[in-house]
Amino acid sequence: MFFFQNMPLCPYDWWFRAGFEYTACLTFALIAIFIFGSCWGSFMNVCIWRMPRRESVVTAPSHCTSCGADIRWYDNLPIVSYLVLRGRCRACRTPYSCRYFIVELVMGLLFCAFFIKAGLSRQEPGVLASGWVMLLFALAAAWIDAQHRIIPDALNYPAMLLGLLFAGLLPEVWGTPVWHKALLMSFLSGVIPGIFLAVFAVGGEKLTKKEVLGWGDVKFIMACGMLLGLPGAFFILCAGSLAGSIGGTLAAIAGRRTLKNASIAFGPYLAGAAILWLFAGNFLLNGLK
Ligand SMILES: [Zn+2]
Repeated sequence: MFFFQNMPLCPYDWWFRAGFEYTACLTFALIAIFIFGSCWGSFMNVCIWRMPRRESVVTAPSHCTSCGADIRWYDNLPIVSYLVLRGRCRACRTPYSCRYFIVELVMGLLFCAFFIKAGLSRQEPGVLASGWVMLLFALAAAWIDAQHRIIPDALNYPAMLLGLLFAGLLPEVWGTPVWHKALLMSFLSGVIPGIFLAVFAVGGEKLTKKEVLGWGDVKFIMACGMLLGLPGAFFILCAGSLAGSIGGTLAAIAGRRTLKNASIAFGPYLAGAAILWLFAGNFLLNGLK
């Protein structure tokens, strides 16, 4: 951790004021954030499995999807339980998907990485809340869309609501101390690209007689706008569609399918663009000025 010592992690300097030793605090914070992120990753695993099957993510307790046995709390610890049980159910020994382990590990690491990034670029501490939600939302949407070709409303609507909620509670992130101004900015940042894309989706369908853009993708971009702002939403839209078109064309060539019949899951590309924006967005914005 010595290499962080001379870096100005400005928004977190309350540690100094509280009289704690810097390196010890940072180490402790990163461990705590890793555990926090992997717990949320564990919850997103439940969402990835249940949402496309229209099951509730809150009411039913965790259970084995093979034998139905309830999973005890000590077998439900992120990362650790997967390693202890070697990725199998304790009751029936059926192997679990490695997705559980990957999502928990990646979320823990991404939460830490975004904490460091927000600190180094001196962003408002409130940026962390919407950034972390964006990371969870992007990963779940990418995984569900890749497997089922949908981005569920059960994912998009809560992401929009959280974007509006954070704007109201932490308006400084939107550059204003007034909560209702921030709320309006967040709302418009989602609705403006939403209208634009809805016109494109309806017009495209009329012209080509097939679906050119799924409504799940439209709502995903709206949620990105409400969480990250208008420049972020447009970046994710442009970079995601560009990468998706290139990826889809390459996949069609590799699979020797005609481009007309190739359907592309845009979710993973949009999610990738969202993560790129989170980590490099203010660099890209300042580069354009
Ligand atoms: Zn089982």
